[in-house]
Amino acid sequence: MTFLFHQIIFGPVKSRRLGVSLGINLLPTDGKVCTFDCIYCECGYNEQGSGSALPRREQVRRELNIKLRAMLEAGEAPDVITFAGNGEPTLHPEFAGVVDDTIELRDLYFPNAKISVLSNSTTVRKPEVFEALKKIDNNILKLDSAIDATVKLVDRPVQQNFTVKSLVEELKKFEGKLIIQTMFLRGMHKGQEVDNTTEEEVKAYIKVIKEINPKQIMVYSLDRDTPEKSLHKVSVKEMEHIADKLRAEGFSVVVSG
Ligand code: SF4
Repeated sequence: MTFLFHQIIFGPVKSRRLGVSLGINLLPTDGKVCTFDCIYCECGYNEQGSGSALPRREQVRRELNIKLRAMLEAGEAPDVITFAGNGEPTLHPEFAGVVDDTIELRDLYFPNAKISVLSNSTTVRKPEVFEALKKIDNNILKLDSAIDATVKLVDRPVQQNFTVKSLVEELKKFEGKLIIQTMFLRGMHKGQEVDNTTEEEVKAYIKVIKEINPKQIMVYSLDRDTPEKSLHKVSVKEMEHIADKLRAEGFSVVVSG
């Protein structure tokens, strides 16, 4: 069963990729809002509905302040404060302001904690989102395939004119201050085979990674239930094989099981 986060501030949880992570969900707590509709989304498909209102900037700041103060009093330090949750966090209209508040509160309570955003990359062309993401320690942006047909099958962009080529041009503007996250998976969806680990896929993927030149690449596979039931996990061994090809090009790669 897929699930939604029912709070604005959640956790801390032990993240496979990030360590002890305190989450911020800038999306509704009773629905999902995303510009992708991935077949592997742990929150389920967009058709479940967008729920009620988004939390206001002041409410996020207030709740984060309360939680960080309580963690400080309990001697419970987070490794990271992570924007994630029920959809795409950068769609929040006050995202830039919330980032500023979060940096301020992090500096006050846990100056050693990193701030991360898990984003699907579709909003980076908006100047205010781009500038906010540049301020963040771990600007983690999704690229599941360099082939448009695969992105359409796996990530199912809501904007029909989405292309990898235009996305890559936007990602290059970070000048290396970004981390690429890639979900590797196999299976079937609506009668079509899904596999972003083929030789053709990996070759195209490495080519665009070289263009984007990220400071790190995080590759991972399925962990929880997915709305498309026929998907399979890709083994760590196989992902390490892909990672080695990236490492041979000089990239830092983290593989999560
Ligand atoms: S980008 Fe993330 S939140 Fe959006 S549909 Fe895909 S997995 Fe779900």
